[in-house]
Amino acid sequence: MTRWNDNLIAARETFVTHLECSMTGATYPADEVRNLSDAGWPLLVRYDLAGAAGALTREALEARPRDLWRWREILPVRRAASIVSLGESETPLVPLAKVAERLGLAELLVKDEGRLPTGSFKARGLVMAVSMANELGIRRIAMPTNGNAGAALAAYGARAGMEIVILCPDDTPEVNVREIAAYGARVYRVNGLIDDCGKLVGEGAREGRWFDMSTLKEPYRIEGKKTMGLELAEQLGWEVPDVIFYPTGGGTGLIGMWKGFAELEALGLIGSKRPRMVAVQAEGCAPIVKTWQQGEEHAPRWENAHTVAAGIRVPKAIGDFLILRAVRESHGFALAVPDEASLAAVDEAAQADGQLLCPEGGATLAACIAALERGLISKRDRVVLFNCATGLKYPMEDKSLRLDRHEGLAGLPA
Ligand SMILES: *Cc1c(COP(=O)(O)O)cnc(C)c1O
Repeated sequence: MTRWNDNLIAARETFVTHLECSMTGATYPADEVRNLSDAGWPLLVRYDLAGAAGALTREALEARPRDLWRWREILPVRRAASIVSLGESETPLVPLAKVAERLGLAELLVKDEGRLPTGSFKARGLVMAVSMANELGIRRIAMPTNGNAGAALAAYGARAGMEIVILCPDDTPEVNVREIAAYGARVYRVNGLIDDCGKLVGEGAREGRWFDMSTLKEPYRIEGKKTMGLELAEQLGWEVPDVIFYPTGGGTGLIGMWKGFAELEALGLIGSKRPRMVAVQAEGCAPIVKTWQQGEEHAPRWENAHTVAAGIRVPKAIGDFLILRAVRESHGFALAVPDEASLAAVDEAAQADGQLLCPEGGATLAACIAALERGLISKRDRVVLFNCATGLKYPMEDKSLRLDRHEGLAGLPA
C-alpha cells in the first residue's frame, strides 16, 4: 500500500554529487552552505544520473504519490527529516479549449501553478531551498521579493521555525505584503525596485545578519523549480510539448525546466526532443527580450521598470545568460507583450474557459496569440502556458451591477 506521505518519509537515496559553477564549471562539494560560486555566478546541483537511473524508473515513479517529492533521487535533500512540506501536490494541466478553438490552435494547455501552497509556484523553489537550509542548519534567512517568493519563504520558514526577513518594493501588491506578515515574518517596504532590495539583503548577509536566499544566489531553488519540467513530461506520457511560454522574471523556472529535461533524458525517461522555450516579458520591463534580439548573453539593467505583472518586474537577472542559453538552444524566442494584452488575455481565459490566470499567466497567453499572428509558432503545435500564481491573489476590477431590493427584479433583462 502506498501512503499519502511516502515521498516525505521513505528513506530514499539522493544521487547528488556536487555543485558546479554555471559559468566556469568549477566544482564545489555538496552539503555545505553556499551562495554563488567564487567567480560570482549561480551554482547548479549535479547528480550521478547513471546511478539514479536504476532507482528512478517509470515503474518506481508510477507507484509513488503524485507530488514534488516523488523525484527525491534527483533532488538535493539527503535526509527525509529535513523536508519542510506544506503539501506540494502535482499541478494539473488545464486545456483552454475555447481559446484554442478561436485561435485555431491544436492544443493549448495551462499548467496551473496557482494550486500550490501560498498560491504560487514560488513554493516549488522555496520548499527546496528551505528544506536544504534546514538540513544545513541555517536559522535566519532574508530575501528581496516582488511578493510571491517572499510569501512562500515566510510560510516554509514559519514551518521550519526559522527567522525570516523580507524586503519588498513599496508598491508590491498589498495582499502579498500582508500574507508575508501573516506567517510571522518581518517584512519591510523599501522605496526602490527588487534589485535595490537585493542589494540591501546582500549587505546584511555580508554583515552576518542572515543567509541571502535571493533568486539564483543559492543553488537549491532551481532544483525545486525544475520539477515543473519533470512533472510536465510525465503528465504528457513522457513527451515534451512543442512550445512552452514562460513568464520570465529571474528565470529560475525556465532555467530549472531546461536542466530538468536534460536530466530526464540522461535517466532514459524522455528522448532528445525539447520544447521550444519562450521567455515572455512585459513591454515595460523586457531586459531578456532586448538582449535576445541583440544576440548578447548579458542584459543591462532595465530602467524605469513597470508592469501590472509584478512577478516579472525584474530589471536585472543574475541568471540572464542561463535564460538566454536555454531559449537559444531550444530554438525558442523571447517576446514582450503590453500590459493591456495580458489583461485582455486574463479576461478571455476566464470568460471562455473558466480559468482565472494571474497577469503573468495572462502575459503568456498574450504572447502565444502574438506568436501565432507573427508565424513564430504553428497552429499544429501543442502549447503549454505557465500560470504561475492563482489569479485570486491579484486585484480584480469591480464589474458588479446594483440591484435595489425595493424595486425587485422588474428592471432586469429577461
Ligand atoms: C516569480 C514569478 C514569475 C517569474 O518567475 P521566475 O522563475 O523567477 O522567472 C512569474 N509569475 C509569477 C506569478 C511569479 O510570482
